[in-house]
Amino acid sequence: MDKRRLRRLARQHGTPLFVVDHRQLRRNLANFRRWLPNVQPYYAVKANSLPEVVRTFYRAGASFDVASLAEFQLVYENMRELPEKERQDLIWDKIIYANPIKDRATLEALDPYRPLVVYDNYAEIGKIARHAPHAGLMLRLRVPNTGAMVELSSKFGCEPGEAVDLIQAAHDAGLTVEGLSFHVGSQTTNFQNYVQALSLAAAVLKEARMRGFKKMIQLDIGGGFPAPYDANVRPLRELGRLLRTEIPRLFPKDICVLAEPGRYLVATACTLVAEVIGKAVRDGRPCYYINDGVYHTFSGIVFDHMKYPVRAFRRGPTALSAVFGPTCDALDTISLAEELPDLELGDLVYAENIGAYSHASSTWFNGFPPARVVHLHADES
Ligand SMILES: *Cc1c(COP(=O)(O)O)cnc(C)c1O
Repeated sequence: MDKRRLRRLARQHGTPLFVVDHRQLRRNLANFRRWLPNVQPYYAVKANSLPEVVRTFYRAGASFDVASLAEFQLVYENMRELPEKERQDLIWDKIIYANPIKDRATLEALDPYRPLVVYDNYAEIGKIARHAPHAGLMLRLRVPNTGAMVELSSKFGCEPGEAVDLIQAAHDAGLTVEGLSFHVGSQTTNFQNYVQALSLAAAVLKEARMRGFKKMIQLDIGGGFPAPYDANVRPLRELGRLLRTEIPRLFPKDICVLAEPGRYLVATACTLVAEVIGKAVRDGRPCYYINDGVYHTFSGIVFDHMKYPVRAFRRGPTALSAVFGPTCDALDTISLAEELPDLELGDLVYAENIGAYSHASSTWFNGFPPARVVHLHADES
């Protein structure tokens, strides 16, 4: 994002300021489609749940992965203008409820929409049969998450060996399983995870169809598509090439493939601008206190295992410096080793590629509110 523009926006709106570039959102979605042309993207709303972001993706024709009733409603808001009948017909095309665990109240609220929901265990089958009998099901498999930045396989997914029994059990409870899903771990740079997950899913699908479950035609390859945070990240183009050969090799022709990209679609579209509000020297090292931190837009440092380089607008000789957030907790440390010029109180700093798992998990800790948000190019298309 243009630096002069960032400074001007910060002056105009105040800091901390979370700048969302909707042109970049649309570009990321277009790239995803370009490299994975036969895969329908269901944007994982949890990565960045600003309603404006959801609206831009909706207008650009994306579908959505939601994981709570509130996220479901956020997406459904955009569908309200459709005629009732069309809305009913479209619901599976537009929304997948991808959280394998749902409480009873959520299931009851979802049932009238006849949603597509994910499950991975027996307890959930009973719950769904009772409280959302009109739901369609997707079974989530546990797959290797080797080398992903954020590992998910310890919390979700059934063992491939018990998959067909879980499909049978859902069938016995009067439910229909439409297909399989998996998640290879977030920011997956080890593309072999996808290959292994696909072969596990292909084996399960084959066995299930042999046992008579012919309606299983959906394959949900989840999220994990890596955002280009630095030059070491292999491009989506390469992963696309791999998937475009592996999927037809492993799966029958009638398979419908969908994916749940979160990070890839939003990470590079947002920039944070913050202000230096304090300054000290500790153990010989310059320390800067800025008005955003790990309880706020930098929450990804804690929850997402991320590092966000903090950059200055000011030029000059640099020194190894520490950067802290504004709260009274020492955990609120953004970096202990950042090369920064000598900054003054009131100077602005910025962090790029901070669109995923950042503002969405910001808190009000210590009374500091989440950063304000400004949207660029939101109404073009
Ligand atoms: C978080 C999540 C996603 C998005 O993952 P990314 O790594 O951000 O692409 C997709 N599907 C499910 C089920 C998730 O929990």
